[in-house]
Amino acid sequence: MGVQPANRDGLEPSPVEVEPAQAEVGSECSIKMGWSLVVVSLIVLWIASLWKVLYSSSSTSFSKTSFLSDDRALSKRNVLLVVAHPDDESMFFSPTINYLISRGHNLYILCFSIGNTRKQEFYQACAVLKVPLQQVKVLDHPDLQDGFGKVWDHELLAKIIEEEVSSHGIDMIITFDNYGVSGHCNHRDVHYGVCRLLHNVSKRSVEAWELISTGILRKYSGPVDIWLSMLLTLRYTDGMTHCLLNEHPRKSFHAMAEHSSQWVWFRKLFVSFSSYTYVNTLRKIEEEVKKS
Ligand SMILES: [Zn+2]
Repeated sequence: MGVQPANRDGLEPSPVEVEPAQAEVGSECSIKMGWSLVVVSLIVLWIASLWKVLYSSSSTSFSKTSFLSDDRALSKRNVLLVVAHPDDESMFFSPTINYLISRGHNLYILCFSIGNTRKQEFYQACAVLKVPLQQVKVLDHPDLQDGFGKVWDHELLAKIIEEEVSSHGIDMIITFDNYGVSGHCNHRDVHYGVCRLLHNVSKRSVEAWELISTGILRKYSGPVDIWLSMLLTLRYTDGMTHCLLNEHPRKSFHAMAEHSSQWVWFRKLFVSFSSYTYVNTLRKIEEEVKKS
């Protein structure tokens, strides 16, 4: 049996010296409870966010004004989505695609770089997203090959996009912003190709919108990012920024699964945790940007 510690007078055990072990246990419990609370809060927030995405009673275009609500809203718009690689459409743009298709707009997709094995996967993914296959085009241009460090000529990109715009009567283009979600140079080049086209066209016959890239925390916050996206969009009252919630996130998952050569574990995780599966914030590319 151990000797109990005594106070300085040697009379009774000092309560301060007896309790450290208990205090340590107490503090460990508090830390555990704190973490449990954080985890439970995150799970509740995730479920609430997913619920909002799936069962939102309001319009899925969240902004001061509805997306495509100008004087041409009653007629179908001819929209061209310009991407760099097969799977960009499913991984990043599915909220926009679902929004446009569900409202009856004519959506065309132009994909610049593709390998033979990925062509069929791209078509299958577009079929899942309900984009008519005759409105989907994939290129395999020798000067526009997939890869980091491969610089794509912006003038060439603009020329190809312009051909698509003319042949389908496109009045709206949607593409990456100048960071391109992941910073991939091909995504960024596609953005600058669209800017070059806007700079080249003499009259304002076509408008262009870019998908706003978010920081890494928001990028991997899944549906939770919808709250911040909606809040940030509210700051803009000029109709130049719109936040589109994905009405069918499961469809995005299925579309991505069609890219079977790319459907590895970390992409499954990406699609589940990426905010781009649940929300897209689009911003109109302004005149100043067009001229840059
Ligand atoms: Zn890509």
